[in-house]
Amino acid sequence: MVKRFRLLLCSPLVALASTPAFADEPLDVVLVGGGIMSATLGTYLHELEPEWNIQMFERLDAVASESSNAWNNSGSGHSAFMEMNYTPDDSGQVEIQRAVNVTEQFEVSRQFWAHQVANGVLNDPSSFINTVPHFSLVWGDEDVAFLRERFEKMTANPLYAGMEYSEDPEEIAEWMPLIMAGRDGSRPVAATRMQMGTEVNYGEQTRQMIASLEDNEHFTLSLESEVRGLDRNDDGTWRVTVANLASGDETSVDARYVFLGAGGAVLPLLQESGIAQASLYGGFPVGGQFLYTTNPEIVSQHPIKVYGKAGEGSPPMSVPHLDYRNLDGEPALFFGPFATFSSKFLKEGSWTDLFGSLSLDNTWPMMQVGFDNFSLVRYLMGQVVQSDNARFEALQDFYPEANRDDWQLWTAGQRVQIIKDTDDGGVLQFGTEVIVSDDGSMSALLGASPGASTSPTIMLSLLERVFAEQVASDAWQQTLTEILPSYGQHLADNPELLREVRSYTAHLLELDEPMNLLEEREASDVDEMNDGDDTATEIMDVSDESDEHDAVPVANDADNALFSSDSPAPPFALRRVGQRRPWLEISSARVLAGSPSVARAR
Ligand SMILES: Cc1cc2nc3c(=O)[nH]c(=O)nc-3n(C[C@H](O)[C@H](O)[C@H](O)COP(=O)(O)OP(=O)(O)OC[C@H]3O[C@@H](n4cnc5c(N)ncnc54)[C@H](O)[C@@H]3O)c2cc1C
Repeated sequence: MVKRFRLLLCSPLVALASTPAFADEPLDVVLVGGGIMSATLGTYLHELEPEWNIQMFERLDAVASESSNAWNNSGSGHSAFMEMNYTPDDSGQVEIQRAVNVTEQFEVSRQFWAHQVANGVLNDPSSFINTVPHFSLVWGDEDVAFLRERFEKMTANPLYAGMEYSEDPEEIAEWMPLIMAGRDGSRPVAATRMQMGTEVNYGEQTRQMIASLEDNEHFTLSLESEVRGLDRNDDGTWRVTVANLASGDETSVDARYVFLGAGGAVLPLLQESGIAQASLYGGFPVGGQFLYTTNPEIVSQHPIKVYGKAGEGSPPMSVPHLDYRNLDGEPALFFGPFATFSSKFLKEGSWTDLFGSLSLDNTWPMMQVGFDNFSLVRYLMGQVVQSDNARFEALQDFYPEANRDDWQLWTAGQRVQIIKDTDDGGVLQFGTEVIVSDDGSMSALLGASPGASTSPTIMLSLLERVFAEQVASDAWQQTLTEILPSYGQHLADNPELLREVRSYTAHLLELDEPMNLLEEREASDVDEMNDGDDTATEIMDVSDESDEHDAVPVANDADNALFSSDSPAPPFALRRVGQRRPWLEISSARVLAGSPSVARAR
């Protein structure tokens, strides 16, 4: 049985006024929350159904102010190049399938963002994505053997072409001087380098996508508007009750579909909706803190992201990393994260959030998770009582010559980890999960990882479940293929398509191209010079090709299936005959000349 709680979210109570509906016809879609997930879903829907009326409600006075804000997350384009938690070795062998899934999902993100640049939805790619090489770093014989095996297995897969590996301290010192300076060189060390890693400003992406949506008459953004009530109407639509936090008024709208993109605050809203699936979930908030510096002398020595390995028994979000960041134009280094505990579900949330979310259904599963994950509980308790000295020592383990005066402590966003009631009892999940009511009219996203990096895949999987019929139609198929040229294909199985897609997205997003593509081009440049052939590549007309496609309907899992980095990727495996190749519409000469940053990479 689902318990329903009146929401006491994060703000002073406002007076309950009468609730006139301010639209005669129900809205097509209500998006709750102005973070990257709602922005991505709104962007998809606007392109798929431009006439649909969509309203977004955001409780704060600006969008992208919670976890999606650049200051509140790590800004990593999680593509599994450096995150060793995606390649576990629990079975005694390094398993790379989870990494492959995440990498393919990030390639979908690149295509989605590239398409938005081509469409003028996103502008100035360097404001939201930049090439920042990704490194994994380990110490000690056991972890060196792990990284070597990981490298060997990954580089057998075309997704990781161009990855480099070294056990040579001098070479590694060239790669990451800050980290290697001042170390005793006797301990075995190993690192991998993936030049095509990225740093992403998800807040800027969110702001730009929502600003573009606001340019059309079918979209309305309501700020300082907190969704507090979700009730079923007799006709199956939803009555969404919204408190205006500025005026204290409460109003309501009706909608055919509601998406709960409220970040950490999704769980209480889901409970408020009363859909059957809500009773399966509990949530445990874990905050993140970072040490950061903006000292240009230090920042300029580390234009990279270096991920270490999580300690024994520590959760994936505890992986220590020293990251180059672009904080809305300000270069910085972040080190962390350090876990914090607060009972808030949002950074700007209320201390009552956790307690208000407890119900008869989820309290026992949550307690079971506590008993079953004692190492996690111990880790969190250790983190919570950690002193400033201990945090600085953790930084010095990574960057021995760090000077305390350069670093400040910053509290980033809240993550609410999912606790799910399963046949085996309460289970703690670190991934994300799309939840959809039986009739598809109410959907939500729980969880935080890999999160923003894979938001286009996550929202696509939501579209496929909520709008299964429309997704199967020719019109949606065509638009989806325009947005995502590799739609329905596994890039890991299709090296030629992977090469083309990477080159195309690198061009539009102004990113460095993968090293293997640069090397191939250099080789072909030499061949051309030898042939004396300097003919420019012509623009190819592929209009016929782009119209040709034949899709079969997507399988619609009516169950509340888990979508996480463990799912088979991509989760939208449609059979497709014709493949759209928009990169051929751009002058091949321009694509092959590469992004502006190719010269830098050389
Ligand atoms: C410390 C940390 C580091 C991270 N690092 C990375 C990383 O490196 N790479 C990565 O890809 N991901 C990372 N993530 C995860 C990523 O930040 C999230 O997956 C992503 O931002 C979630 O976006 P969202 O739109 O779901 O939520 P949010 O961005 O939190 O947006 C939710 C919005 O809903 C609003 N809201 C809440 N309740 C209501 C209501 N009742 N009515 C109206 N509005 C409401 C909130 O105010 C907020 O604006 C990190 C997260 C954290 C906390």
